[in-house]
Parts: sequence; structure tokens; C-alpha cells
Amino acid sequence: MAKKYNFYAGPAILPQEVMKKAQEELLDLNGIGLSILEISHRSKDFEAVITTAEAKIRQLLGVPENFTVMFLGGGASLQFGMLPMNLLIGKKADYVNTGAWAKKAIKEAKLFGTVNVAGSSEDKNFSYIPGDLKLSADAQYVHITSNETIGGIQWAKFPETGGVPLIIDMSSDIFSRRIDFKNIGMIYAGAQKNIGPAGVTLVIMRNDLIEACSEGLTTMLSYKTHAKEKSLYNTPPCFAIYIIKLVMDWIEALGGLEAVEKVNNEKAKAIYDAIDHSGGYFRGTAETKDRSKMNVTFRLPSEELEEKFVNEAKKAGFIGLKGHRSVGGCRASIYNAMGLEGVKALVQFMEKFAAENK
Ligand SMILES: *Cc1c(COP(=O)(O)O)cnc(C)c1O
Repeated sequence: MAKKYNFYAGPAILPQEVMKKAQEELLDLNGIGLSILEISHRSKDFEAVITTAEAKIRQLLGVPENFTVMFLGGGASLQFGMLPMNLLIGKKADYVNTGAWAKKAIKEAKLFGTVNVAGSSEDKNFSYIPGDLKLSADAQYVHITSNETIGGIQWAKFPETGGVPLIIDMSSDIFSRRIDFKNIGMIYAGAQKNIGPAGVTLVIMRNDLIEACSEGLTTMLSYKTHAKEKSLYNTPPCFAIYIIKLVMDWIEALGGLEAVEKVNNEKAKAIYDAIDHSGGYFRGTAETKDRSKMNVTFRLPSEELEEKFVNEAKKAGFIGLKGHRSVGGCRASIYNAMGLEGVKALVQFMEKFAAENK
């Protein structure tokens, strides 16, 4: 089969090495004669998987001691509601509205408390990250979306919140760069963009916030349950957690997040340079300073050309370049597992297409 370059936004590309390793081990995990798919989540073999996954996450991301790592189900979308259910009932929080995902988080939060939209870029079709946030003094937390997967904008630097815990949906850029936990109260991410398959959501939460969570919630929707039971209150998404562990091994072998970040910067530069040097043929939709290094959104001179571009790209082996249905255009998602070589191949294809389709 000819090699395909996978630019899907999510579920997304996984490292080949990880999938090969999973394939090798699928019938027999570490010589135990059983598959990861068929062993108890309470067995010592699975315990080794989940504790190693957690230890590597902590080490690679620099998670401070006073944070708890949880592996939950329900996707990042469940966190939109679970977070305010635990921390917002009858209180107030600040949210920054940067696009489709932030909007969904805001919608859910309003079910539980008062939402102050501290900044928004809706006026310009979510093409930038708003500065000058109007934060409230009595907010329980400030919620942002570090990378808007659909609009293609990303916070280059997280906002100052004056001591109020920052809570970040990092679904599409977690483990793509180093982060500073200084102002952070919690981060969460569906795994299926940068760290694994669909089915598991990573939640990393400061312990004082866990203690402050509402009492009396249904057991599965309480962070306290999962923190106390180390993500083993019920059967967790075992296979997805196992793949995260393999992805962590892979990141470690690459040299950690500093090395990953460096390659991601090179990849983003290569593709944005191609857009900027195309004489206006390709047009980036995000403001330059806020361009996402994970999801590159761009337009061509017409919708007809966009359709032709996506189709011809597909024939040439570049998959998943159609923009999200809500915004149109084109989008190249260049997560960690997409190598510089794949991005360079796409850039070549773009240049050729532009020259042949004036
Ligand atoms: C994909 C995505 C989500 C939704 O994730 P699910 O796991 O499908 O619920 C939320 N936020 C961001 C930023 C995303 O990219």
C-alpha cells in the first residue's frame, strides 16, 4: 500500500512506531500470554501500564507534585459539563470565547453557574486570540482553549489571571510544547489528537481544587471519586491508556517535549512560509501572531479550487485536508506524529498545485 500522509484533525495520526509496538504486543503483553484487551484492570500487569503511563506523563510534562493525574471516559466534551458541575454550582467563572470548542464549554458552564465571557474573538470569525481580558475578581477559575482545532488559532502564551486558577482545554495541543503549571488549576484533553486513540480523556487537576469540588454529585461525575480511586473506580479505557503509555515512550525516545516542540515549530514554519510566499494564492485564516502550530487553516482563491485541491491532494496521498464543515476552506493538522518530512511533502504539493491552477 502506498504511504498516506494523514492530516486529519481527530482522531488523528499516531506514531507508526507506537502502532507497530501495539501490533507486536497485541496477543501477548510482555510475555504474560494474554492481550492487554483481555486482562483485568485490577491485574498487576495493567497496574504496571497505568502507573507507568502516569509517571511518564508527570515526568515529560513536568506535572507538579500537588496535581493528580486522571484517565477518564466521555471525551473532552464531558469535561465541558463535569468541570462546572464540580467547581461552579451557584458561583462565577471567566471563560474566553475563541471558537467552536470554547463555545461548547461556555454553553455547559451556564447550566451550573454564572459565566462571564472575559474576552471573545467572535467579531472576526474567531481568527485571533483576544487580549485585554475582562476578568472578574470573584471567579472560581478562568477557562481557555489553548488551541482551537477548528479555527486554527492558539494561545502562544497563557494569560495572567492574578492568582485565579487557569483551566485549559488542551485537547489539540497537549504534549506539543512545554507548559508552565504556575497559574494552572487544571488541564484536560481528549487523547485522540496528540497522545492516543479516542476513548480516554486526560485530566490533570490541582489537589486543592479537587478538595473544593461539590459534594453529592453522581459518583462517576465527581473528580473526587476518580482522584481517590486512581482512575480505577470502574473499568477505565484500558487499551487507550496503554496506547498513551506507548506514545509517552515515543516522546521520551525523541528527547522529550523540548525536542517535540522544536520539530513542531519547524513544521509550522514550513507550511506557513509556503502560504505566505504563495503571492496570495493561499491565504491563512488566522491572524499571524495567533496561528496554530497544530491546525493550519487556509483558503484558496475560490471554493471550486479548494475542492479541487482537497481531491487532488487525496489522490496524491495527502488525506484529511478539508476544513471543518462549519468553516469551510482547508486545514492541515500537523500533530506530533506528523514528521517534518510529511509537511515538506505537502508544501511541495501545494506549490505545484498553485503553479498548475492559476
Ligand atoms: C476535539 C476537541 C474537543 C472534543 O473532544 P471529544 O473527545 O470528542 O469530546 C474538545 N476541545 C478541543 C479543543 C478539541 O479539539
